[in-house]
Amino acid sequence: MIDFTQEEKDFFMSEALKEAQKSLDKAEIPIGCVIVKDGAIVGRGHNAREELNQAIMHAEVMAIQEANRTIGNWRLLDCTLFVTIEPCVMCSGAIGLARIPKVIYGASNQKFGGAGSLYDILRDERLNHRVDLETGVMEKECAEIMQNFFRQSRERKKEAKRLEKLEAIQEM
Ligand SMILES: [Zn+2]
Repeated sequence: MIDFTQEEKDFFMSEALKEAQKSLDKAEIPIGCVIVKDGAIVGRGHNAREELNQAIMHAEVMAIQEANRTIGNWRLLDCTLFVTIEPCVMCSGAIGLARIPKVIYGASNQKFGGAGSLYDILRDERLNHRVDLETGVMEKECAEIMQNFFRQSRERKKEAKRLEKLEAIQEM
């Protein structure tokens, strides 16, 4: 069993939040992830779908790829994946493929969550890989950065519409 003190959990989740901030800085959905082995971060990732124009470049996928390179193994045994938001169906599948034994996430994702909300892929008894899952670490901070993003993007859209209208009026 891999165990963390509350202090360690908060520390690694705040590192995942720093990753989420990188997405936010590029006006992307702010989700961040770190993978930890023997007390050290071996992989980092942030949602970079827009930045890289890659549909599958979620935070967890980027972090798994980096951890694979760092460790030199596709199996991420003895690793813990910290992610700010509940993994989606694809990332929950990827976590299983990478054989990650433990996942800790901050806030749940009622719309797309594949680790307890819509599906429970990490703990599905029909699959041969089951994951020790913990939720709610720095939940408020992880949810807040998402809510701020969606509020700002609604405001940006509203502002764009307002400018469009103004232009239309000026052209009349
Ligand atoms: Zn995902």
